[in-house]
Amino acid sequence: MDNKIDAPRIAVFAGSFDPMTVGHWNILQRALPLFDKIIVAVGINTEKHCCQPLDERMAHLNRLFSSTERIEVASYSGLTVDFCHEHGARYLLRGVRNMADFEYERNIADINRTVAPDIETVILFAEPQYAAISSTMVRELMTFGKEVQDFIV
Ligand code: ADP
Repeated sequence: MDNKIDAPRIAVFAGSFDPMTVGHWNILQRALPLFDKIIVAVGINTEKHCCQPLDERMAHLNRLFSSTERIEVASYSGLTVDFCHEHGARYLLRGVRNMADFEYERNIADINRTVAPDIETVILFAEPQYAAISSTMVRELMTFGKEVQDFIV
C-alpha cells in the first residue's frame, strides 16, 4: 500500500444501502471535498434480510452517480478492509447518527485498525435533520405501504 502523502486519497463508504437514504447521500456530499475518490461499496451480506435485490440496488446506485466523476460504485463480499486494500483505499468513511451508532462504529473501527493498521476510519456526524433516518426505518415504512420519497435518493 502506498502511504505517500501525495497518493490519491481514496475512501470506501461501505454499507448495504438497502435503500440509499438522504442521510447516506448527505455524508457522501460532505465527504467529497475530503477525498480524491469515494467508492460506494455495497456489501453482500447473506445473513442480512434485504429488501431490494443486489442487481437492482447496483443499477440504481450506478445511475445515481453516473455523472459524479469522483464517486464509484462497487459490490463486495468478505472483509471491508480487504476490499480497501484491493482498491488502494486508505480511508473508511462512516456516518454516526447517535450514541448507538457511536458505540457500534467505534468497535468496528477498533477491529479494523487491528487487522489493517494502514486504513484510517473517518467519521462524519449526521446533520440533525438526517439523524433519525435509516434504511431499516425506510424498509419498515415501505412494508406498510407508506410514502418514503422524502427519505431516499
Ligand atoms: P449497514 O447496512 O452496514 O448498517 P448502512 O448502509 O445502513 O450500513 O450505512 C452505512 C454507513 O452510513 C454507516 O456508517 C451508517 O452509520 C451510516 N449512516 C446510515 N444512515 C445514516 C444517516 N441518516 N446519517 C448519517 N450516516 C448514516
